[in-house]
Amino acid sequence: MISYLPHCRVFRGESLLHLQQMQIPCSTIEKAIFHKIAQAADELQLPTYLIGGFVRDKIIGRNSKDADIVCLGDGIALAHRVAELFVPRPTVAYFKNFGTAQIKLPEFEIEFVGARKESYQPDSRKPRVELGSLEDDQNRRDFTINALAISLNKADYGILIDPFHGLEAIAQKLIKTPLLPEQTFSDDPLRMMRAIRFACQLDFTIIPETLDAIKAQADRIKIISQERITDELNKIMLCNKPSIGWDLLYKTDLLSIIFPQMVDLQGAEYIDGKGHKDNFYHTLQVIDNISEHTDDLWLRWAALLHDIGKPATKQFEEGHGWTFHGHETVGARMVPKIFARLKLPLNEKMKLVQKLVALHLRPISLTNENITDSAIRRLLFEAGDNIEALMMLCSADITSKNKFKVKIYLQNFEMVKQRMKEVEESDQMRNWQPPITGSMIMDYFGLTPGKNVGLIKDAIREAILDGFIPNDYDAAFSFMLQKAAELNIPVPNKP
Ligand code: ATP
Repeated sequence: MISYLPHCRVFRGESLLHLQQMQIPCSTIEKAIFHKIAQAADELQLPTYLIGGFVRDKIIGRNSKDADIVCLGDGIALAHRVAELFVPRPTVAYFKNFGTAQIKLPEFEIEFVGARKESYQPDSRKPRVELGSLEDDQNRRDFTINALAISLNKADYGILIDPFHGLEAIAQKLIKTPLLPEQTFSDDPLRMMRAIRFACQLDFTIIPETLDAIKAQADRIKIISQERITDELNKIMLCNKPSIGWDLLYKTDLLSIIFPQMVDLQGAEYIDGKGHKDNFYHTLQVIDNISEHTDDLWLRWAALLHDIGKPATKQFEEGHGWTFHGHETVGARMVPKIFARLKLPLNEKMKLVQKLVALHLRPISLTNENITDSAIRRLLFEAGDNIEALMMLCSADITSKNKFKVKIYLQNFEMVKQRMKEVEESDQMRNWQPPITGSMIMDYFGLTPGKNVGLIKDAIREAILDGFIPNDYDAAFSFMLQKAAELNIPVPNKP
């Protein structure tokens, strides 16, 4: 935004408007932008207001990079006039059907819309929209904290218009709907996800009446497109403590509809007095732990999914207790299906999550006393460039109510990290490729692609990783000849 200042034309006619102070704290650049909007509104005689998330965030003290402007009249015309007041003149993207327009400044976006009144029919999700007053427009907002407006009009510039006591809700950190919650959620069920996302993002409490209405209407989430639901899930994932959102999704029964595999993690079963930990709450702890160290959405998804294979692999073994053998492999296999269902991208991000789920136990298993160089080498080879991410996931996975236990685990873990550093320095295993490749094998023996080439190639790799032969070309070459002989592959007559 700073970079844009020199290009901004000084507000024309500032002396004419004599604008009052804003009742919310704004930067100099934001003030300059709002002055231009006020000027355009004044010229077009359109009562105009700043509304929604920008006002809310400024009061809370959060940074906001987009502002919603509502005017009593043609929002698109207002956007065009505002654009003319900037040098260079920004493009106006507009949608005639919806009566909305958007101006993208280098680091700030402004959305324009005419004030509207919405009425919903029970059989349709699409509201009937008519032009309305500011009050009508505030009525259709989802939560009282999102219905605050600031006048951009000459007569009362900067004044806060707060018919639903949104300011009080912000002070008390409460999420509540302006109208009856049942009506609000029935009209647009996405608002249930938004309520939970805001509670998680802002660390606010959803008031009991609103929370009860979400529980009662949870089933209606089915009419919302998966993309919009997942958008909210990703926003929850990027919060400081995603567990708040996931727990609310669970407690309102939304989770069992949108992501039943997560609900399967819930609960602790007991047989012969032996129980296992509640894997749902353990998972929530792991996602909060990893979120303290990374903002990477995909590492957070890996944390959320790391134990997703546990319900399918759970067994009670006599004399031993509960086991979840192979849950990392089963979980990794579930990842593509879950990504497809949630309409998350089926690309290398999904593969990263899958890989981390598959490997998440490996560093922990190395904390046993018998850590061998070959086990460490193998892990470094398999994790490749994702070794730091894997180690981060693994340490986030160390949760226990017993603080002493956690301390010991973390100490062991540091030891594993140290050993990894040593092995990596001496062997350079990260991104390692065996000295003999498949095409070298085919060339030498005159083979076409097939099973034998794979067998020889894998055997060379395994022999090096196990420390059976050194990691160099000559050793690998001799080993290749030996393996070929075992497979009865004739050695060509070479000079
Ligand atoms: P964020 O930018 O973090 O998503 P926001 O509050 O700005 O927060 P937007 O989705 O940009 O959210 O919406 C802007 C404003 O439009 C909201 O503050 C709210 O007043 C209104 N709004 C958005 N979606 C809905 C909805 N589904 N129902 C009612 N009002 C909504």
